[in-house]
Amino acid sequence: MELKKRYAGDKEALLRRWPDIEKKVKNAFLKVPRELFIEKELAIHAYDDTPLPIPADQTISQPTTVIRMLNELDLKKGQKVLEIGAGSGYNAAIMSKLVGNEGKVISIEIIPELVKFAKDNIKKAKITNVKIVKADGSKGYLKEKPYDRIICTAASPKIPKAWKEQLKNGGILLTPVGDLYGQVMVKVKRINKNYEIDELGHYLFVPLRGKHGFKLKKKK
Ligand code: SAM
Repeated sequence: MELKKRYAGDKEALLRRWPDIEKKVKNAFLKVPRELFIEKELAIHAYDDTPLPIPADQTISQPTTVIRMLNELDLKKGQKVLEIGAGSGYNAAIMSKLVGNEGKVISIEIIPELVKFAKDNIKKAKITNVKIVKADGSKGYLKEKPYDRIICTAASPKIPKAWKEQLKNGGILLTPVGDLYGQVMVKVKRINKNYEIDELGHYLFVPLRGKHGFKLKKKK
């Protein structure tokens, strides 16, 4: 079979691998064309179940990872969600479908080149309830707090206190926590001043930078 036919646009084949994913998450995934959030030359790989490179040496996450995280996040119509790590804007776009027009997605990105990339991609996808912000998301985003949900799509050395404080009572926070070479997906549920923690398996993400992120050496 010709490579193009085998790979391009085969979303349904990806979804068949995930029988245990909620229908609302699958529907949101189907509504967002992943090819709009990567560079044109990579479009043929849009529905390979792998992360792909985006500008500034970062990645758009693997579809399986995106969908599993969103299944755990349990977004509902009308909610306000904070994402740390806008990257391509793809995860934010799927979340925008889950919260609907009455909800809001605030997605923070620390690399200026990616702030523009994500904004342009969100515009191409004609999505209007996502706000991409240039900031250090390791401190959360005070201006729009509190949040029903917080999701970090970069590897964090620990859960920053600010994220817990900016989460609403009853809210859910999801983040990979670990070192640079492997992390555990951690799901935190806030119940008043208590935080219930669940561990959801091992992952590998690009590092969180900023005040509460990893201290990375600058490239020469
Ligand atoms: N969610 C993205 C998508 O849908 O394409 C993929 C995110 S990528 C795996 C992780 C992103 O986190 C990178 O774009 C990186 O620049 C960003 N990042 C790292 N540290 C950050 C910080 N402190 N604040 C905001 N963004 C950060």
